[in-house]
Amino acid sequence: MSIADYHGAYESSCGYCKELNEATNEIERKQKRNCIGMHIHGHLPVNYYEDMMARNWRRSGNFFYQPQNESMCCPQYAIRLDVNRFKPSKHHRKSLKKIEKFLKGDADEKTQKTKSDNPSKKKPFQDLMAQELTTCLRHAVEEILSGNVHDPLISLLDQIKSDVRVNPCLKGKSSDANYTSNIVMMLLGQFKKHYKDQTAPKKPKEIAEYFSSKIISNKNISSISCADNGYINIFVNKPQQKEQDVQSIEPKPIEKNKTKSLTTKFVKSSFDEEEFNIYKKYQTTIHHDDPEEVNRKSYKRFLCTSCLTLPSVAQGSGPFSGYGSYHIQYRLDEVLVGVSVVDVLVKGLSSVYFFYDPDYSHLSLGVYSALQEIKMIAEENQKHPEFEYYYLGFYIHSCAKMKYKAQYKPSQLLCPVTFEWVDLDECTHKLDQSKFCSFSKNAKDEKPAQYKTFLKYDDPRSDVKVLLSNSVYPFKALLRKFELKQELLSRIQEYINTVGEHAFDIIFVIH
Ligand SMILES: [Zn+2]
Repeated sequence: MSIADYHGAYESSCGYCKELNEATNEIERKQKRNCIGMHIHGHLPVNYYEDMMARNWRRSGNFFYQPQNESMCCPQYAIRLDVNRFKPSKHHRKSLKKIEKFLKGDADEKTQKTKSDNPSKKKPFQDLMAQELTTCLRHAVEEILSGNVHDPLISLLDQIKSDVRVNPCLKGKSSDANYTSNIVMMLLGQFKKHYKDQTAPKKPKEIAEYFSSKIISNKNISSISCADNGYINIFVNKPQQKEQDVQSIEPKPIEKNKTKSLTTKFVKSSFDEEEFNIYKKYQTTIHHDDPEEVNRKSYKRFLCTSCLTLPSVAQGSGPFSGYGSYHIQYRLDEVLVGVSVVDVLVKGLSSVYFFYDPDYSHLSLGVYSALQEIKMIAEENQKHPEFEYYYLGFYIHSCAKMKYKAQYKPSQLLCPVTFEWVDLDECTHKLDQSKFCSFSKNAKDEKPAQYKTFLKYDDPRSDVKVLLSNSVYPFKALLRKFELKQELLSRIQEYINTVGEHAFDIIFVIH
């Protein structure tokens, strides 16, 4: 039994343009995200949810919401990928290669090469120090960019990383050895190039301070200063006993030819302490959430709770471990490194959220997991021909950080007028002109279909079941019995319009 506690429209501030507007203006930041929402009690068959998704609904735990795109600052369009037509991009192939290399045990080939090229000759302290600081800063850049798979700069990650340098500063012969880094200027240059008319979100000095915090723990560093223009000056204690210090800062030897495995396992969506620990680390490190706010309760509500259940009509046991909500655990040998929260639906796999251990950010696990899931769907498709889509949530054209979803080609967007799926390539030029528009050729005007085609609450052909004082009634019976308020009538009409056909299968609660 599915029961809808229908809340109707609600407003919340938009998290998508908030980040951009921190750099631009205050007024737009106050823009609202307009949604229709409801809580579902009991169970909701996966096919009902999938039909609702085809009307632009999504779930977060047992809360379901539908963005009201025509009045939103950042319209959100459902996006899906037909896995049988998927062509990986250059960036996807690179990411995969990087992981394969790592698993084979030769990921840190640069380090290896340096060592084997100079087996007997020890590098001067200054060079080794510069090399170590460079590696450290490159990891920090990688951590930021790959944690933020939405960032357009992600596709340039390898180039950006190779541009990051810490150089010994040759002038001056004080007791301190001095090093400088170009990291901030280089990043700001890339930002300017790829975010066109936007001002950088932070001042050069603040960015420099952030990167300084990533290297300050190095025991050879005596102090760091950051200039207003972003230059980082690093002061390093000269080694007392040269031999020993050179030894101590040399990269740890890598166990050569030691192969690792990265495996996946479906577990039923539920709370698990090991997963939660990674989630907490991910939210606080990558998204800078307040550690106090990342608690078990909110995690459970957001990612472990699900009312999804078997389809209403028999479809066999379903793909993978069966229909419903799961966590796909990604393990590097025995160690849990990432968790993908997904819904196994009738026509495809819906990606809810992905989080990973930030210690492994250099592996770009976000990209890896998506590619892995696409592959797994394609395999299941052989047994279940109707199972063929990878649902990636919402696509927000106005938000540069969300465009990574469009890299999984050829994707389709849901037309907000006809609710047909249209190839993304056909939509983008329209979205460049107007952030809310129809995509389908069959769309006659810009008014959403839901306001036109659905049944009236008093239509003789159908009836909504309502729950009132612990009893379920056909709504029309109540109409005859009671004088119902206009407000309730229009609420039920809105519920039918937004939910679609399953509005008649789900029981509506009247408070
Ligand atoms: Zn917005």
